[in-house]
Amino acid sequence: MAKKAPKKKAVKVVKKVAVKKSAAKKKTVVKKVTLKKTKKDELDLSAFPAESISSRTLGLCLACALDVLTRHLGLSADKANSEIRKYTPAVEELSVASPSRPYLEWPADACPSCGAPAKWHAPLRIVKIEGGKASDAARRALVKSIGKSASFAIVEEKSTERDALYSWLSKIGADLDLDSPDWLLDATRHWLGRRLPKEDWSEIFQQVRYVRRSRQLDEDQFEIQNPRLFLAPLLFDEILLIQYLLSRSHKVSGLTFEGRLTLQDLFHRLRGGGYLRRVGISSSNAADALQQLLELQGGEARVKFHYIIDRRDLLSRLAALKSARLPRHRPAGREARN
Ligand SMILES: [Zn+2]
Repeated sequence: MAKKAPKKKAVKVVKKVAVKKSAAKKKTVVKKVTLKKTKKDELDLSAFPAESISSRTLGLCLACALDVLTRHLGLSADKANSEIRKYTPAVEELSVASPSRPYLEWPADACPSCGAPAKWHAPLRIVKIEGGKASDAARRALVKSIGKSASFAIVEEKSTERDALYSWLSKIGADLDLDSPDWLLDATRHWLGRRLPKEDWSEIFQQVRYVRRSRQLDEDQFEIQNPRLFLAPLLFDEILLIQYLLSRSHKVSGLTFEGRLTLQDLFHRLRGGGYLRRVGISSSNAADALQQLLELQGGEARVKFHYIIDRRDLLSRLAALKSARLPRHRPAGREARN
């Protein structure tokens, strides 16, 4: 994957096409962003490439948290309150798939652990940023704008490119509807967003209906001729791989732009088209080749995840409940005894 020299010249041409076609639309996009910024309660994430961030909302049951701190740890109500105000979730709690006490799925009618109604639940909005060249400048600016505010917490997690790739695949996989006819295009848009984060792929894909391989293009080049998007063979074949990975658990084989492929089919396709040779994989075994491909896309190299935790709603809800009486401990599904 070395040969970078001839790339620049042709990319320029490609970009011209892209810019010309989208110049009219860009204006409205910019307007939207400005509007968003004025909305004070939202963190402005518009500077981030879409594929470098994901967000989720984790619920925290304040009744559970207060109960544990006062009843089990013997703190006074005031002390418990200030402990919660200072508290930052641990990395494991931020990325866990099914939250456990005092956390809960957001939103919930009743806490699954203690039965407390929704007014006792506080949302923690968590933005997960994959560190790297594409996102570092935007992240530094965001962290700077947050400053030392107690309303936000920042947690770092050391990880590897492999984990970053799998985490991205599972995020994208969860959002894709593999039964919808558009998912192959959606998967392509997401992958291109990850590979070439400087382009505005959501805008480009508003017009694109077909994606084709073009031998006229090299390395990371692409060309837009609406409604067609032409990709260099390297990019196109990467997308076959990503589509295969995203859909292979769906049914026995994976669905791609080139139809439903088993691992063996995919291997022959990638070898026949020269992709494996270009990226330096010579294995004649399909499973080994896939393993090596995954190592190429996401190996041991270090990546950091940065979690920005928005605690503003937690703090205001905690303040509002300061004089409220803790609800009786009553797990969901159990009737109150008379
Ligand atoms: Zn609870």
